[in-house]
Amino acid sequence: MQVTIDSHSGFCAGVTGAIRRAENELQQTGQLYCLGDIVHNGQEVQRLEHLGLETIDYDDLRTIHHARVLLRAHGEPPSTYWIAEQNGNTIIDGTCPVVKRLQKRIAATYNAHKHDEPRAQIVIFGKRGHAEVIGLQGQTNNTAIVIEKPEEAEALDFSRPIYLFSQTTKSVEDFHRLVEKIQLKVKNDESAIPFEYFDTICRAVANRVEQLKQFAREQDIVLFVGGTKSSNAAVLFGHCKEANERCYFLTAPDDLKDELIDECHQADKVGICGATSTPLWLMEQVRDKL
Ligand code: SF4
Repeated sequence: MQVTIDSHSGFCAGVTGAIRRAENELQQTGQLYCLGDIVHNGQEVQRLEHLGLETIDYDDLRTIHHARVLLRAHGEPPSTYWIAEQNGNTIIDGTCPVVKRLQKRIAATYNAHKHDEPRAQIVIFGKRGHAEVIGLQGQTNNTAIVIEKPEEAEALDFSRPIYLFSQTTKSVEDFHRLVEKIQLKVKNDESAIPFEYFDTICRAVANRVEQLKQFAREQDIVLFVGGTKSSNAAVLFGHCKEANERCYFLTAPDDLKDELIDECHQADKVGICGATSTPLWLMEQVRDKL
């Protein structure tokens, strides 16, 4: 039996970077606050909590003083930096460099067009209320319009300029469907208003579905490791199952029961993969149990 862990599964570079920052800090000081869950994986959060990490929310941030606070990979709006610094806190900025670049790009576009007449619309294709999107909206003094689905394009004012960006984890296809919808409206509008769009989707995650399906097809059996609360895990497991009927969902090594172990031992190739929130060490534990 050959057991392979999918090299594309697990945390993206941005999340891995933020976790490294946390580990380095914790090694030196043994105590660090993190604003929001560092990653959507309970086991990984627990592991870091044992090292001294404490997850806080925005209310907590207003009350703590002279502490070290980690900002996670999703990034934060400028207001978070002001609040933290007002209380003498030190920010450990774990914002993913890709998100940081996007924030700067949106801020630059906003500043270049904020006095335009007619008033420009900065549009973010993303999930309302998602931490990354809140950070992006903050770059525009919260004036950016958030669109979750291409169908929502109708809500835009086609008599005013449009500058469209995307949250890093949105679907490339949906983004281009949205662009087409806006282009159609703009073309039909006699005023020919400026419409510029920037595909700012991170390929680290966008390419994952195809890579995962390919990996699943190459295996006799697939063990998919993910959290039951992770929506990304549910979606990716669905794709895996589509590519390989013999795909099983596990949350931890304990889910690997004797019957499944026997089935794996009769196969030639067993693949272990996971969601973007699945830590590598958890997939390794499943492999070791097998
Ligand atoms: S931009 Fe890409 S690498 Fe950075 S946190 Fe988002 S998905 Fe991960």
